[in-house]
Amino acid sequence: MPDAQGGRPAPLVAVLGGGQLGRMLALAGIPLGIGFRFLDPSPDATAGALGRLVVGQLGDETALVQVTEGAAVVTYEWEGVPAAGARLVAATGTPVLPPPVALDVAQDRLREKELCHRLGIGTPEFAVVDDRADLERAVKELGLPAVLKTRRGGYDGKGQTALHEPRDVERAWSELGGVPLVLESLVPFDRELSVLAVRGRDGATACWPLVENHHDGGILRRSYAPAPALTEQLQDTAELLAAKLLDELEYMGVLAIELFDVQGELLVNELAPRVHNSGHWTIEGAVTSQFENHLRAILDWPLGSTAAIGVNAMVNCIGAMPDPAAVLAIPGAHLHDYAKEPRPGRKVGHVTVTATDAGELRESVARLAGLPGVDVPA
Ligand code: AMP
Repeated sequence: MPDAQGGRPAPLVAVLGGGQLGRMLALAGIPLGIGFRFLDPSPDATAGALGRLVVGQLGDETALVQVTEGAAVVTYEWEGVPAAGARLVAATGTPVLPPPVALDVAQDRLREKELCHRLGIGTPEFAVVDDRADLERAVKELGLPAVLKTRRGGYDGKGQTALHEPRDVERAWSELGGVPLVLESLVPFDRELSVLAVRGRDGATACWPLVENHHDGGILRRSYAPAPALTEQLQDTAELLAAKLLDELEYMGVLAIELFDVQGELLVNELAPRVHNSGHWTIEGAVTSQFENHLRAILDWPLGSTAAIGVNAMVNCIGAMPDPAAVLAIPGAHLHDYAKEPRPGRKVGHVTVTATDAGELRESVARLAGLPGVDVPA
């Protein structure tokens, strides 16, 4: 697919990663006249339907040159992108946004937590674990229950294990020991929330309303936005902590911050320096979607309003897609099929339900939950 459109040079955005997030970035950017190029190790990467796909490893120098040549800006849709590769591209003078330092932080759970602490932002209590003796010490210090996590490479509940009693230490160590780890107190949260924040190249920032997230097996299943019973105070607290992180990192683009709500206190669980699954509802449920605002931010265009329109739910389709006709028969349902090969545990699409009030939303979500292929308790 050519990079320019209709003979007019389009600003070209190179995206490292070609999964559904890249695909949805392109779906938001093409109407704005933006062209896309993607780098992904898989020749079947789903974003390839919307721009030229360079097949290669995300840290491969030749592939990076191929995908980023002539781009106005380079961005990424996966926080596992090797930071060294991102820096290599940035050194050629093409802006890489969000800045590669965001990758350094988000790729290491310890650095994430240390950054939060430096900025006065709460996290679960934690201790560094590099060997078996550290683990014994950390368990004594934090007490149980706790969660042992790999500092690097964990996602969707992988690379972590819970410890409830002293004899779990042995099992946890044999499961994860040998790589740098961090032990965290298991937080008795009331609910999980996330805040999606965006910062432009001029330093302007905005946040979407807080989102309530429901996970199962470490995988996001459903989001509600705005989060039910959201107070102005809670939103302000989230926006303040987001602004501190954005400013400290001199961030540009969308940053997702996963939070635990513990009786109104917000603790940061994880940062994702990219558009995020818990922001998919913004496509239909907000004045400007996370995808469009990410592009506006990195291209130095004005940000759009992040206000929600009505109330929204987002339900992930995991392992298989439901029957499209059955989904589309539900009032307010919007279907997103990522055109990915179905596989157990794989996110292959999502459905956003938009409604004018909580009752209407509940009704539509209950109808959705009843469909085969939709794994949601009503
Ligand atoms: P993570 O990969 O860190 O996002 O963890 C996946 C899920 O495990 C989170 O969404 C929580 O449901 C749960 N979890 C992780 N860390 C903690 C913690 N310190 N306390 C309680 N639950 C946790």
